[in-house]
Amino acid sequence: MKISKTLISQEEIENKISEIANQINHKYKGQELVVIGILKGAFIVVSDLAKQLELDVTFDFMSIKSYYGSESTGQVKIVKDLEYDITDKNVLIVEDIYDTGLTLNNLKKLLQSRNPKSIEIFCMFVKKEVAKDLIEINYSGFEIGPEFVVGYGLDYNGKHRELPYLGVLS
Ligand code: 5GP
Repeated sequence: MKISKTLISQEEIENKISEIANQINHKYKGQELVVIGILKGAFIVVSDLAKQLELDVTFDFMSIKSYYGSESTGQVKIVKDLEYDITDKNVLIVEDIYDTGLTLNNLKKLLQSRNPKSIEIFCMFVKKEVAKDLIEINYSGFEIGPEFVVGYGLDYNGKHRELPYLGVLS
């Protein structure tokens, strides 16, 4: 499979990350923040964002699997858990893409049960036509169509994550 077109360029992505980093710096000025990247897809977003944060920030990573069909119970399997305790902390979840919203919805419920001070969500790409309004996304990078995308952390069978832009496969 080949990349048939660039949906969002490297430059557009860089500008957006700067814009969102400014918002986050403003929002959490003078406060501690724990940034939680959801593996594997969010590793590039987190590293680009990290370089522009001017805050007392800690980074942690988590990997989960959602049980499809169990949306109401919010069950997730934790593949890799956090290293830090988030009790009474300001938490920012960073995710690559919001498709049905199931993953983020389940994850938010899970993290909420650990009693953080606050939780916000930054999702780089949002499939607007598909996305159900399950949860509020506090910072969203780009709204995209329903097509399957790769690059900027997103894969197809483990490949293409390294692309600095968002592309469509054909
Ligand atoms: P959701 O639970 O919101 O339906 O699914 C989110 C997850 O599905 C993402 O973290 C990602 O792993 C995967 N996903 C959804 N849409 C795409 C896509 O267009 N491309 C890639 N590579 N992964 C996707």
